[in-house]
Amino acid sequence: MTVTTEAEGVFAEPSATPLALLLLGQAADPHSERGVECPGDLPAPSDPDLVQRAAAAKAALGERVFVLGHHYQRDEVVQFADVTGDSFKLARDAAARPQAEYVVFCGVHFMAESADILTGPDQQVVLPDLAAGCSMADMATAEQVEQCWDTLTALAERDGRGIERVIPVSYMNSSADIKAFTGRHGGTICTSSNAERALRWAYEQGEQVLFLPDQHLGRNTAIRQLGFAPSDCVLYNPYKPNGGLTDAQLREAKLILWRGHCSVHGRFTEQCVDEVRELIPDVNVLVHPECRHEVVQKADYVGSTEYIIKTLEAAAPGTAWAIGTELNLVRRLADAHPDKRIVFLDKSVCYCSTMNRIDLPHLVWTLESLVAGKVVNRITVDPETARYSRLALEQMLALP
Ligand code: SF4
Repeated sequence: MTVTTEAEGVFAEPSATPLALLLLGQAADPHSERGVECPGDLPAPSDPDLVQRAAAAKAALGERVFVLGHHYQRDEVVQFADVTGDSFKLARDAAARPQAEYVVFCGVHFMAESADILTGPDQQVVLPDLAAGCSMADMATAEQVEQCWDTLTALAERDGRGIERVIPVSYMNSSADIKAFTGRHGGTICTSSNAERALRWAYEQGEQVLFLPDQHLGRNTAIRQLGFAPSDCVLYNPYKPNGGLTDAQLREAKLILWRGHCSVHGRFTEQCVDEVRELIPDVNVLVHPECRHEVVQKADYVGSTEYIIKTLEAAAPGTAWAIGTELNLVRRLADAHPDKRIVFLDKSVCYCSTMNRIDLPHLVWTLESLVAGKVVNRITVDPETARYSRLALEQMLALP
């Protein structure tokens, strides 16, 4: 494990404070997490047989179960994943496994929804802990987005221009309701790998883009890859009338960014970059585009989770890398590349607390329930929402 030690000042293992436990997903934050308690008895985390119980339950289910593990999941869970990947890859992997009756999604709620949308009607998608939500996805509710659309429609009508000039582009990290909204209004979904292509496509369809829900991915892509000026973008605050913007601002912006962000990637600051450069002068700073624009500007490389993984695979032995993404993944990458010096960009712990809610006891409980013929924590998307979400997802797949 080459993640830098506390003494070196880059990464500190958490002590068992309430905050650290929350960040590690061992405690609940009712203000930021949604969902319900798991019904039934969870095995105790101290049960020494958990690994063996998970393996036995998975073996008993055989081909009937397909376990998906997102890159940000804990190692104790990832060891039981049939495939790992980002949210979209995993949803597609599940769709390519129609023989799997049960798809156990070790990730967060919006990912399981996407898997349900893309899998067949006979496949049942299960999320081991229903409280594994995503704070970013929760920052854009269907009601807020409809209200925003009404505002934009009223403005377009006053201007005599028609709302068709506004194209919604929604990040994969959004609820099924937001994906369906996007499909209903002729927009597309994007991932952090194809956001540039999605935006270019959208500007061929209309004049203005409403980008949901991650302001940073939208801004970073527009400025870095489409050559926009910061002033071409405005930030729509759903808690303020008119989004906190004047009619002129809303009318003239090329890109309307929803005021959402990832609570994990949003933690990295310019100071983190400065400090790591001071500690390791030849370090390459590699960050995810969900990071703030100031951080992205200071980084050497910017890209999706898959890009981060591939960049480190291709890096020369002996090179040093500071990575600005979720800590479970960074630690796994550090383990996988002992010939490189891989450090975490922030000094403090930076797990995705909701991702971390999926732990071994929840996985064991889920698998053993399936063995007993009981489907727990099933995630379903209603047919109407699924139909329009699929439209927006298919548009993404058809991007040039
Ligand atoms: S890392 Fe960020 S975007 Fe991903 S699930 Fe966690 S809060 Fe959501």
